[in-house]
Amino acid sequence: MSCCGSPRLAVREFPVPFDTWWFRLPRFEHERGSAAELLPDFQGKEVLLTFVRPEYYQIAYFTEKGADPRLRAEGVERFRERVARLRPQYADRVDEITSMDDLHLLDVRLNRLAGDWHMAGLLMIGDAAHAMSPAGGMGINLAIQDAVAAATYLAEPLLEGRVTSHDLARVRRRRRFPNVNGVVPARGGRSLIVIQSNTGKLYRIRLATRDVSEIPLKGGPLSSGDSITPVSGDRLLITRNVQNQIVTVRLGASGASVTKVYRDATFRYPTAAVVHRGRLLVPNSQFDKWEQDDPELPFTVSAVPLKNVLGVR
Ligand SMILES: Cc1cc2nc3c(=O)[nH]c(=O)nc-3n(C[C@H](O)[C@H](O)[C@H](O)COP(=O)(O)OP(=O)(O)OC[C@H]3O[C@@H](n4cnc5c(N)ncnc54)[C@H](O)[C@@H]3O)c2cc1C
Repeated sequence: MSCCGSPRLAVREFPVPFDTWWFRLPRFEHERGSAAELLPDFQGKEVLLTFVRPEYYQIAYFTEKGADPRLRAEGVERFRERVARLRPQYADRVDEITSMDDLHLLDVRLNRLAGDWHMAGLLMIGDAAHAMSPAGGMGINLAIQDAVAAATYLAEPLLEGRVTSHDLARVRRRRRFPNVNGVVPARGGRSLIVIQSNTGKLYRIRLATRDVSEIPLKGGPLSSGDSITPVSGDRLLITRNVQNQIVTVRLGASGASVTKVYRDATFRYPTAAVVHRGRLLVPNSQFDKWEQDDPELPFTVSAVPLKNVLGVR
């Protein structure tokens, strides 16, 4: 159903600074007890993350992206030393790593197919449609959910031998929402309004039917839309993190339109907004710091008069 790499389906890559190498070490009889613990060890650019299993330790070694040829050239003895240095309790068992072939490289990728997930006779799902960081089991979870959606929509047409491109497109439509950020109930409570960060499009989800429809947005799209805050009437405030903006959107019967774009010199990647006593409180998320530098502490919250944001007197 899916395989990686197709010249006709464009991939958008996001930078990832690390790769991981997975391996196992034994958990001796006298150590056995609770399982499902997570043990992190950090040193400089290296991380060892141990998942405690009943009879063994499942271990991920993290270091900078592209280090695989260097690590393998350095050889197994050097790698055993790294592991024992990061977690000295393993010094008595690192010999169980018999060669560098015991390490399984995960070339960590973060990418998305920019447009369709299908072409005639082919549907991309899982890693082929959107490779994720392994954190939190996201890669495997999304892949399984994609497979469930594909089975749901395609089982019948496949059995009847009549799969169309419309059927294939339905799978993506059902599954393209993992990066929806802001979610608010619409007036009346029968539907939700959501913003999808990567496309900057607004959607309405009807709660009774789960139907999803795009809301035409005059003045949009609002890419990097991160949160939606309802204010009086049919107005919504949308934070745009990368753009350092808060955008006022008025919802009408046939669509929505941008009525004001507000910027403030104190914003640093606003990701949420809360109305409090006539002011808007906006956390500054310092996205510019998360890859290399430590964030500046303490984190700050900008407070701006709501009437300025809305552009009313
Ligand atoms: C070492 C390692 C550790 C990982 N750890 C985690 C983790 O902790 N958490 C997490 O969420 N994710 C993790 N992942 C990622 C996770 O495995 C994937 O996100 C998930 O398996 C994606 O499922 P998939 O069905 O899209 O692709 P895969 O599981 O990769 O399945 C693709 C299948 O297609 C087959 N295939 C490829 N090319 C062809 C071809 N030309 N013809 C026929 N068949 C083909 C492959 O053999 C494979 O069976 C890890 C991956 C690796 C490699």
